[in-house]
Amino acid sequence: MNIYDELGVRRIINAKGPATRVSGGFLAPEVTAAMTSAASHCVDMADLQARASLEVAAATGAEAGLVTAGAAAGLLLGAAASIARLDPARMARLPDTRGLPNEIVMVRSQRNFYDHAVRATGARIREVGLPDRFAGAGVRDAEPWEIAEAITPQTAAVLYVAGPLARPALPDVVRVAHERDVPVLVDAAAQLPPASNLRAFIAAGADLVAFSGGKALAGPQGSGILCGRRDLIMSAALQMLDLDIEWDQWSPPPAFIDKSLLPGLPPHGIGRTAKIGKETIVGLLVALRLFLAEGDETRYRRWRALLENLELSAGELRHARLAIRGDVVPKLELHLESRSPLDARALLLALQYGEPSIVADGSHADHSLVLFNPLCLRETEIPLIAHRLRELLA
Ligand SMILES: *Cc1c(COP(=O)(O)O)cnc(C)c1O
Repeated sequence: MNIYDELGVRRIINAKGPATRVSGGFLAPEVTAAMTSAASHCVDMADLQARASLEVAAATGAEAGLVTAGAAAGLLLGAAASIARLDPARMARLPDTRGLPNEIVMVRSQRNFYDHAVRATGARIREVGLPDRFAGAGVRDAEPWEIAEAITPQTAAVLYVAGPLARPALPDVVRVAHERDVPVLVDAAAQLPPASNLRAFIAAGADLVAFSGGKALAGPQGSGILCGRRDLIMSAALQMLDLDIEWDQWSPPPAFIDKSLLPGLPPHGIGRTAKIGKETIVGLLVALRLFLAEGDETRYRRWRALLENLELSAGELRHARLAIRGDVVPKLELHLESRSPLDARALLLALQYGEPSIVADGSHADHSLVLFNPLCLRETEIPLIAHRLRELLA
């Protein structure tokens, strides 16, 4: 019997993609096997994170890395590292940031719900720029000089949310920040694939980059990566690891945590609440290896084949057209004609509350589109979705 049936929790077919609310995706058998093996033994967590750091560094080109409890946890730890650096007294004080550099500069058009993670450290966000282009009134957004102007001795970091629409370009942000000796923290949670983005932001000069492990990386739902400068990763690790130990008994791998740089051990840090377990760390590392081994082209063909199968199985639908679009992540778009008795929102609800429950992507419902994302779909679920679509629309 499936564990969710045993628990009495309804399963869903996830055609929305790896969103947290619908539990991300599912794990490859290699990942679950590694997690089971990891769960059966004990290790020193600093040793495990130091090993993870090497793998993350090799995959990203960064000096060091940390496996975190999601990208949002990575943002919290990155902000905490930028404020406290290697000072145990500062680590001990967070989220009380009085008298510390506690401002995080951010382009106003990049503000989003996840920046709560950096504010949780006690930092204040200092917004810059006016996103004129989004109002339909103009073409401009924040300029590099506006970021430069907002940087003061109070600045801990610049937070940059990567994405196709992000402005100014990251290298320009890095330039003005580094001229003023301020680190740049990049939220790249959803920027995979392409796999080249594992390296792109570090290559552009970012000091810290956070990725989600539970999205296209297909790692455990509650996993992520923070990679970047060795000293900042060391600070982030110190503020997350459990430090309930005497100084003399503590011997983390020096390449990961260099004790000689510390006057003593801080207490548990602000990132202790974003603790990650050994199974999750191991699962993320194996998922990262699989992601790199499969490669973008094979992955794209696998995703596209699922959608072509769905398109074919759905067949002719009344008042609806199907098309596969998307160069990086393909999606099956179902476009409802205005004559359709069901509009996009009604179709989404009918799918969600039907049997089986199918959750599709409703982000373009305003344009009469229902999207089917292949990332969290299995071959066996395709006929079930096609059958429901025919019931509702054929
Ligand atoms: C998904 C997402 C996050 C959060 O990632 P988790 O791994 O779920 O913590 C943060 N920022 C952006 C832009 C995201 O899309």
